[in-house]
Amino acid sequence: MKKVIIVGAGPSGLILGLLLAKAGIEVELLDAGSEIDKQPRAAHYASPAVYELGRAGVLEDVKERGFQPEGFAWRQLDGTLIAGMSHAVLPIEYPTRMVVLPLDRLGEVLYEHIQRQPTAQVKWSHRVVHVGQDEDCAWVEIETPDGVKRSEADYVIGCDGASSTVRRELFGPEYPGETLDAQIVATNVYYDFDSFGYWDSNTIVDPENWYLAARVTTDGLWRFTYGDKPGLSKEEYLARQPQRYEALLPGNPKPGQYKITNISPYKLQQRCAPSFRVGKILLAADAAHLCNPFGGLGLTGGIADIGSLFDSLIGIHKGLADESILDKYSEIRKRIWTEIIDPISRENFRRLHDQDPTKARENDEFFKLCVKGETDEQVAKDIALGLDIVRHDMTQYYTK
Ligand SMILES: Cc1cc2nc3c(=O)[nH]c(=O)nc-3n(C[C@H](O)[C@H](O)[C@H](O)COP(=O)(O)OP(=O)(O)OC[C@H]3O[C@@H](n4cnc5c(N)ncnc54)[C@H](O)[C@@H]3O)c2cc1C
Repeated sequence: MKKVIIVGAGPSGLILGLLLAKAGIEVELLDAGSEIDKQPRAAHYASPAVYELGRAGVLEDVKERGFQPEGFAWRQLDGTLIAGMSHAVLPIEYPTRMVVLPLDRLGEVLYEHIQRQPTAQVKWSHRVVHVGQDEDCAWVEIETPDGVKRSEADYVIGCDGASSTVRRELFGPEYPGETLDAQIVATNVYYDFDSFGYWDSNTIVDPENWYLAARVTTDGLWRFTYGDKPGLSKEEYLARQPQRYEALLPGNPKPGQYKITNISPYKLQQRCAPSFRVGKILLAADAAHLCNPFGGLGLTGGIADIGSLFDSLIGIHKGLADESILDKYSEIRKRIWTEIIDPISRENFRRLHDQDPTKARENDEFFKLCVKGETDEQVAKDIALGLDIVRHDMTQYYTK
């Protein structure tokens, strides 16, 4: 294998590019944007993602610029604790303990590292508009500031996010799945949640006023994601923000008592592509599957795809596996999404709005497990590492 084209320099594309370039493979990374995306999206990376960040050689920098959270709490609207999940139960040096770093800052770390790789090139303002393939290679057609260009490689990987052009080229405009009947508004905000006794992450369980407030940096920036009426325009969500903040945040602050640095409404989607492979063209992360963000399974699952795809490609490169391992990649990653990520993420969202908060500690199966973890250290550790099930080691399919 001489060269791989990766469409999309989001986190998944950058991690795959870094892993492949470090293995000596030529990587051309094409991104439609002019710089790393700054929207308030992922910040929490669970154990399977941390494992791949370690393999890519960026984990120490991610830890240095981010932090490792102590615990997650679920609360009633008045702040009463329902249940908690400890990450501090794992020692700080535990190799795959959760890390927190906002997506744009993770992108900066990855971009710095990939620029040091002589076999990798990242090209901004390069929008892929068509993909194709024959027996010998796969290619992309790209709109660039200097006109339309064509580039070819052994494989093209679509890491181009939810609206993936690569996926549309393979399967048409429909992304199978559904949009949930709910709306979130994600904000990054400086506000003193600490003074209300909040833990590193706090999910409010409430039929109307559910929300998530999680620390995302060590300088006091929090992610505050709340529900709002579905079906409004972006302008309407922005206009409603002050009243939603005053109604929901502890202390009922007015504008001027907090500082918002990002705000973006999102629909909640559960979707999965028909296949993650068509010949020499592959899909990974949001281009291949989407889930709602509660429980932080989106990019964690996407980075786990990248680990599986990297091992598959490198197995082919080294002559340890034939191309059928890519079918296995597609089959297994799709199964993990269908059987694990989709149902768990749906349940994470249901848990926060569709039950009586005053009875949730006794009734909810996950909370019952957390309560057991309060006195049983092994149970607490198993919960903290529970998402390890989304990682899959593809080297077991090497034939040599
Ligand atoms: C509010 C919110 C909170 C979240 N929190 C978490 C969390 O805590 N943990 C977690 O694991 N996940 C979380 N997620 C999900 C996570 O943000 C996404 O799964 C992740 O960003 C997907 O990464 P990606 O690299 O696949 O795609 P993206 O980040 O979307 O990157 C795709 C890239 O492709 C480029 N691109 C698109 N089309 C083209 C084209 N035609 N040609 C060239 N380039 C193109 C784009 O410019 C972009 O840079 C959250 C999501 C939301 C909305």
